[in-house]
Amino acid sequence: MMTLIDGFDKVSQIEEKMLSEITHFAQYDDIPYVADFKCPECGETGEGYIHKPGGYVEMDKGKLIGYCSTPYGYQMVFECPHCFTKYRYHNCTTGRNEWHTFKSELFLVWILQNPFA
Ligand SMILES: [Zn+2]
Repeated sequence: MMTLIDGFDKVSQIEEKMLSEITHFAQYDDIPYVADFKCPECGETGEGYIHKPGGYVEMDKGKLIGYCSTPYGYQMVFECPHCFTKYRYHNCTTGRNEWHTFKSELFLVWILQNPFA
């Protein structure tokens, strides 16, 4: 039977796997910041949906490829699956200045992309 401690260990192991697979971008200012979570090049990908007259329309999601530390807090780095442009977005409201909180939010995004990790 799996205990709570085993569960925490498993999460730590998967977090380590995530950190080994994504990139810590040291030069954040080479990557454009977007406020609206939409690819700054083609505008066709991002959050997974876009609001247009008449309602929400689905769009492809940006692929989480890493994170960076900026003067405005941690940000997630995404890559557009259409045009491969990289862009950064907070995608995190409360934890942007605190690594452990940010890492938990990063993990949620990553695990949704990698459900069998
Ligand atoms: Zn794009």
